[in-house]
Amino acid sequence: MTSSLHQLFQSLKLYIPDLWSARAHSTSFKNTRSGYLRSRITMLSSVWGVLVILWLPFDLLFLAQPTHLHIAGSRILLGSFLLSIAWLNHRHTTLKRAQWYMGLMVLSINLFYLYTAWVLDFPTVYSGFVYGYTLLPIIHVAILTILPVTLKESLCMLAVTAVTQLLVDYLSGHLFSPENIASYWLQNVLALMVVWSQLSKLHMLMRLYRQATLDPLTGIYNRRMLLQLADKQLANCIQKEQPFSIMLFDIDRFKRINDTWGHGVGDKVLKEFANFMQDHIRKTDLFGRFGGEEFILFLPKCTSNDAERIAERMLSRIRTLEVETGIDSTAINFTTSIGISSYGDSDSLSSLIERADRALYDCKDAGRDCSRYHPFDYTPILSERRRAIA
Ligand code: GH3
Ligand code: MG
Ligand code: MG
Repeated sequence: MTSSLHQLFQSLKLYIPDLWSARAHSTSFKNTRSGYLRSRITMLSSVWGVLVILWLPFDLLFLAQPTHLHIAGSRILLGSFLLSIAWLNHRHTTLKRAQWYMGLMVLSINLFYLYTAWVLDFPTVYSGFVYGYTLLPIIHVAILTILPVTLKESLCMLAVTAVTQLLVDYLSGHLFSPENIASYWLQNVLALMVVWSQLSKLHMLMRLYRQATLDPLTGIYNRRMLLQLADKQLANCIQKEQPFSIMLFDIDRFKRINDTWGHGVGDKVLKEFANFMQDHIRKTDLFGRFGGEEFILFLPKCTSNDAERIAERMLSRIRTLEVETGIDSTAINFTTSIGISSYGDSDSLSSLIERADRALYDCKDAGRDCSRYHPFDYTPILSERRRAIA
């Protein structure tokens, strides 16, 4: 019981900043979420846009003149606005844009509610046909449940709706009347459910995203995600004619660590190394696990000379790292070898990695715990190491 509570607390601690605001999200998660938001906003605005216009004949039939013309006009306006949002939003993917369109959608529906309430002289439950208009905020809030939004975004949308509702009640002279207090209570319960559902969706999306993109042992990018992001980073550097270097790390005699101290200590070394690297790279660098005890660091805007200098500094710091074995308070040290390559004309990501791999092979040949740079002379043959494996 205590351990499961502890686990729940740890998992909440891990997710709380991410659930509160998008500021803590990584760029790639922002892109993933903006894709989800985009499709849902497009869907919601299209459905709202079509439904708002479809109700037009009933208004014309049942509402008195000239009210029905005012409402018909506002329906056509809102419907076209929502359909335009759906169309525009469908064409763009950035998170900022999705947030804007989401805000505009919520605001326009609230303005419609405010306008119709005013034109219909603030309908109540006893007002017959026009009573349907009083349900607008409830339907509108309930539908927002499909959006995987952060708590901050959710509260902003609900605040706009709450302020509109209070304004309508104030204008109708029923602010905090007994029947409205009951309805506020119901709306708050509904809002709570909506926030809960939105956060659960965001949480689920985040968990699936982490499982698909991060290495479970070290928590850094896995190979698939790493290569996907590096491809974009390289294309960006090529387009801006900026240098691009990569470092391929391999822990020296790692098998010996496993054999001597056990796999648990081997895992600790991998985690320690990953933590160290994350603390010592720039924000724009991209670091992840390539496989086993091999890691890659992608360095945009970094020349080969800079990369060699950085590698030497890292090697000397890694030598001083200590990992507790948990046996007789013994701590062990480890070393790494670093293969370096830098972008040259007609290089691709795989040719760059292939050269770094060959440089790494040179390090191992030279006795390990060192770095080597492989200049641009790429011929598409398998490295000695890969050939040996084959
Ligand atoms: P070298 O200096 O030439 O790189 O020698 P090495 O022993 O480091 O290289 P080798 O490729 O022979 O050994 C890599 C070992 O890494 C083999 C594998 O059992 C171990 N390994 C791979 N993934 C993990 C892991 O997640 N945890 C642990 N503990 N060991 C792992
Ligand atoms: Mg290896
Ligand atoms: Mg190794």
